[in-house]
This record gives sequence, structure tokens and C-alpha cells, in this order.
Amino acid sequence: MPTSKISPYDVIIIGAGINGCCSAYYLYKAGLRVALIDQNGIASGGSGAAGAFISPKISKAGELKDIMSEAHAEALEFYTTRFPQFTLTKELLHIANSPQEADKLECFKQETQLEYSTIDNVLKSLLTEEAANESHIYFSEGAVVDAQGVCEALVEGIDFFTIKADALMYEDELWKIDHLSAKHVVLSIGAYPKLLPIDYVGLRGIWGHRIDIKTSTDIPCILHHHVSISPTTKEGIVAIGATHDVHYSPFSDQVYDIESGRAVLLEKASKTLKLNNIEIVRDYTGLRSGSNDYLPMLGNLVDAHATLSLYPHLRHGKAVNMREYVYYPSLTMINGSGGYGFVLAPYLARLLSEYLSEGKAINPILSPSRFFPRWAKRQS
Ligand SMILES: Cc1cc2nc3c(=O)[nH]c(=O)nc-3n(C[C@H](O)[C@H](O)[C@H](O)COP(=O)(O)OP(=O)(O)OC[C@H]3O[C@@H](n4cnc5c(N)ncnc54)[C@H](O)[C@@H]3O)c2cc1C
Repeated sequence: MPTSKISPYDVIIIGAGINGCCSAYYLYKAGLRVALIDQNGIASGGSGAAGAFISPKISKAGELKDIMSEAHAEALEFYTTRFPQFTLTKELLHIANSPQEADKLECFKQETQLEYSTIDNVLKSLLTEEAANESHIYFSEGAVVDAQGVCEALVEGIDFFTIKADALMYEDELWKIDHLSAKHVVLSIGAYPKLLPIDYVGLRGIWGHRIDIKTSTDIPCILHHHVSISPTTKEGIVAIGATHDVHYSPFSDQVYDIESGRAVLLEKASKTLKLNNIEIVRDYTGLRSGSNDYLPMLGNLVDAHATLSLYPHLRHGKAVNMREYVYYPSLTMINGSGGYGFVLAPYLARLLSEYLSEGKAINPILSPSRFFPRWAKRQS
């Protein structure tokens, strides 16, 4: 059958990272006809590089903490009950890596509902003196998922196409991408070029490196300190991640130095515990895309050109209600999860599905268009 005969989908999702895969999972379950596309393959971007720890964010009270706590609880439940074969659950030891983090951690302890205890002498004896004496919290439940495995399992049975979306065209109430069309588009393209003139969306891609190693040291729990270290899997693998290289971009001519990336990871891991007889098994690198205000993004996108034409005084800082902006039709972005993409994805994708299938409003605090007024003011 010629591919042009494919009838319109309800939704095309662009980008098959954890955000795109979780969105596809929920929308398909809600009964929508879903097509998922990616220029490379499933979990080929930042998601494939992730250590994929499902850990709480240690932050002080506020909107970000509330969203992260809800998302964290939902993610633990989601992966452990729906994808147990890709989820390793273990205790989690979070050790402060600076005096500021120690302060945050002590505040977090006062407020958290999560179960935690003190570490026993066996675990303490594994740690370096620096790590053992630092402020810490030992949660009874943590998890780490197999990033590639879980993304593939999420999209089982869903139509997947290897397509690079170069342009998005909206015609006759349908979005057209390559030979596909749909009533709605979900943009889950992480830190890749944005595809639309939406410069106001405050996103930054940060390069990260994780290694899988073999070591004769048995790691009994998840460790977060200067880097994150996974427990030893049944295959004898320990994952160590991630570096945060703010200077490197895969979209530039620079060459990333894998050897020095590994050295940094191992040096940071050695501040937590001594790893004996190390053998590097594999490197994973990728971009995570974080929002400028650390809150994730889920919502419709303002058409900047149309909105500024209608309300030119936005350029002079005059306020216009967000509801009055002109939005791209039937288009939603899910992005900006920073180092917590696997923690946030089940929560964000569920909200997206409730929005598209039940018309439930999305909390405007998550809207990617929240950055628009400030950007518009700079356009004068
Ligand atoms: C080293 C490292 C360690 C991490 N550790 C953790 C962790 O422990 N826990 C955690 O929760 N998070 C972690 N993260 C963060 C997490 O990986 C990200 O937040 C998450 O991957 C973001 O997912 P995404 O789906 O938004 O983007 P991505 O996974 O980057 O997916 C975007 C996809 O879009 C595709 N795409 C882009 N443009 C186009 C186009 N024009 N046409 C077609 N396809 C396109 C890309 O090929 C890509 O596959 C880590 C990240 C890194 C890099």
C-alpha cells in the first residue's frame, strides 16, 4: 500500500524519548490513534543516556517541590507496578555534596513524607571518610529503570516511524509531517532544534555522560553524591552518571573527549566509595533539556508572530492575559525536565492524556508560554 494512503491519526508525537514514549503510552491507552516518530530511534536522545534513577529532588518548599514530590511518587508506582521487569528497587542514600546542599537536605528531612532511616555500619564501612561524615538521608525506597528497555516497552503496539520532522505544516485542520497527518501534534523533542519560531521557550540543553562498569565492589543501594551510582545489577553492571558539561554542544564542531569524561566520572565516584577492579563496559552520552526556571513544560505554544501583531504593546511590557494570546492550533509541548525526565514523564504524560482525551485543563504554571511576555518585552 502506498504510504500516502495512511489515514489521519488523532495524534502524532515527535520525539521518542521518555516524554514521547510515556505520552504515546497514555494516549494509546485512552483510545486515541497514535503515531510516534523519531529521527533516529526509540530512546536515541537524552533518554537513552540517562542513568534513569527515580529519585526525589532535594529542594526547599515551593511549587517546584510540590510538583516534583507528586511526580516522584507517581513514577515509583508507575514503573514498579507496570514495568517491574525494567525496574530495580533498592534503598537510596543521598549524600550532600556541598554545605548548601547539606542545608537543603536538613530542611527536606523536616518536611518529607518519604520513609527514611540511618545507615547501618556495613554500608558506612563502604563509604569514604568524606561521604560517611557528610549530611545524608537514607530512603527506604528508590528505583532505577532500564532506560532503553522501558521506552521500548511503553510503545509496544504503537505505530512508530523513523522520520526527521523538518517542518510542521497545518492545513485543513490537520498537521502534516512527511507522509503522515494528524489532528494534534505533541512536540517532545528534548533539547533538539525547536522546529517552530518559539525562541521565547526558555530551554537549555546540557550534555551528560554516563558509564556502565564492572567492578568487584558490590554496591548494595543507590548512591547520589557528586555523581549517581547504581546498585550492582544481576548482570554485574554498575552505572555511574552523570557529568554536566555546559560547554559542549553536539550541534557545534567541537569533539567530545570520552576519555576525560570517564576520568571525571570515576574521580567523582571515588569521593563516595572505593571501586575495585574497574572495567568500562559502555559509554552513554546525550543532552538533557532543562527549563530556565527548573519547572517542566507541558502545554500549548504561543504563536509569537501572530500574538505580537495583535498586541504590539506587549513589546513595551503591557500585560495581556495569557488566554488572549494566539496559540498554534492543536499542538502541545512536553519538555524541560532537566535531570528528572524519567521521574516527571509518567506524571506529565498522564496530564497530557487527560487534557487531550477528557478536556481537563493543564496547570498554567507548567505552560511553556510562561516565558513569552518577558521575551516579547525584549523585542522592542
Ligand atoms: C547522562 C544523563 C543522565 C541522566 N540521568 C537521569 C536520571 O537518573 N533520572 C532522570 O529522571 N533523568 C535523567 N536524565 C535526564 C533525562 O534523560 C531527560 O530529562 C529525558 O531524557 C528527557 O526526555 P525527552 O523525551 O524530553 O528528550 P530526549 O530523550 O532527548 O528525546 C527527544 C527525541 O526527539 C527526537 N527528535 C528531535 N528532533 C526531532 C525531529 N526534528 N524529528 C524527529 N525526531 C526528533 C530525538 O532524536 C530524540 O530521540 C539524564 C540525562 C542524561 C543526559
